[in-house]
Amino acid sequence: MKPVCRRCLLSEADAGGVYETIRRRIALLPDDARTTDSEYQRRLDCCCTCDALVNGLCTICGCFTELRAAKSAMHCPHPSQYW
Ligand code: SF4
Repeated sequence: MKPVCRRCLLSEADAGGVYETIRRRIALLPDDARTTDSEYQRRLDCCCTCDALVNGLCTICGCFTELRAAKSAMHCPHPSQYW
């Protein structure tokens, strides 16, 4: 059974192919729909300090955090809206 990794992004927690699929989906986002590199990193830094992040999933919304953070129109679903 795979261990639960709290505050781990999918890139850190996934030993299988899911992260690669997410990475490809991010790469296919149109430029005007994708966050800048600096904003993407800022969002992921917030996620990495959040208790809702488990095995790369946001347990509040069920999204892969790396994909959600890559979409510029999205926001953090936490009541405190970290990003
Ligand atoms: S609640 Fe926000 S900061 Fe926490 S894991 Fe989800 S998207 Fe990231």
